[in-house]
Amino acid sequence: MPNLSYVNPSQNSPWGTYLSQVDRVVPYLGGLARWAETLRRPKRCLIVDIPIELDDGSVAHYEGYRVQHNLSRGPGKGGIRFHPDVTLEEVMALAAWMTVKTAAVNLPFGGAKGGIRIDPKQLSRKELERLTRRYTSEIGLIIGPDKDIPAPDVNTNAEIMAWMMDTYSMNVGSTATGVVTGKPIPLGGSLGRVKATGRGVFVVGREAARRQNLSLEGARVAVQGFGNVGSSAAELFAGNGAKIVAVQDHTGTVHNPNGLDIAGLMSELHHKGGIGEFAGGEKIGVEEFWDVPSDLLIPAALEGQLGLERAKRVKTQIVLEGANGPTTSDADLMLAERGILVVPDVIANAGGVTVSYFEWVQDFSSFFWTEDEINVRLDRIMVEAFRRIWETADQHRIPLRTAAFVVGCTRVLQAREERGLYP
Ligand code: GLU
Repeated sequence: MPNLSYVNPSQNSPWGTYLSQVDRVVPYLGGLARWAETLRRPKRCLIVDIPIELDDGSVAHYEGYRVQHNLSRGPGKGGIRFHPDVTLEEVMALAAWMTVKTAAVNLPFGGAKGGIRIDPKQLSRKELERLTRRYTSEIGLIIGPDKDIPAPDVNTNAEIMAWMMDTYSMNVGSTATGVVTGKPIPLGGSLGRVKATGRGVFVVGREAARRQNLSLEGARVAVQGFGNVGSSAAELFAGNGAKIVAVQDHTGTVHNPNGLDIAGLMSELHHKGGIGEFAGGEKIGVEEFWDVPSDLLIPAALEGQLGLERAKRVKTQIVLEGANGPTTSDADLMLAERGILVVPDVIANAGGVTVSYFEWVQDFSSFFWTEDEINVRLDRIMVEAFRRIWETADQHRIPLRTAAFVVGCTRVLQAREERGLYP
């Protein structure tokens, strides 16, 4: 039964998945359950038309979104995704997961997300710039350093953040570095931001492994998605003694039970834009990736990749969610039944938004930290957040995802209650 008139989610769609995660947390919210409906409704959804002139002189229109799911604890925070499959419903779910994520890590932000329904690979660099600038101008109504702060997500990067920062700044008449994070370093970006999400995945994975008595030395790691998140995480796992036994990206899948050479994979990625042709392993089929035995499995691509059928088959001890929403709700139950530990996205991939927070703070104070300071503070915040979630899971005997929702949603709804209903 759809909860809102403007979307029609299915059980395993991103918003459907999010709604069932909310259902699972409600019994643990005590008196705050009175406010639970807040979690099921985005505060604000903006849909914009983005007309741009293409290089051949024609005009094309694209659909863009910015959803502010919840602002109870602070300004909206969350990335911008450029992908042909982006929909309002997907952006709503991604924004909602940002609400839970920022609260679970205790960052003073709400949750938001944006996107444009486009395949950016079809555009020239100049067209991409025009698209980004027009989109930024359109969502300029609701973003700002103290209102809502975008950042990179799938297919967006520091260069796109620079265009966003410039466009917003031109429109308000002053340079507003704090309006986006993930910027280039000379424009107020933070050291360590590019690899922060992958670093956070590693830190949380290390903590989870320790509690499972799994040594990283020789541990087998399989990574789906070898973009910014998957590749940075894989590098850190390999650097700490683990073996990367399988990697999959949009160009193919490679497998080597003795461990793929990480430096070779990185160079393949940089030179060819994908690892599908990497010679240091055996090429296997897309589905076969899910059968590769591993100790840690890191889905770091898009939502919904680990559905029920794959959840019945995977041979791993820990699923470490680098992507947002990679595990469907029924798959979650199956993995729990099979005794596989799922470390949920809202904590596992929170390293990116944590360093985004550091960037925003540095921009406001115009005082910049060293990369070492960033990494040490990131480690500390992630370890503490994970500890709290682990203890909550232990206390109530619930999966880590529900525990992360208990920690996050309690903070959100406490703020909601203390602020009171207006008017
Ligand atoms: N897109 C990232 C995420 O999903 C980072 C968001 C941010 O830095 O605001 O967490």
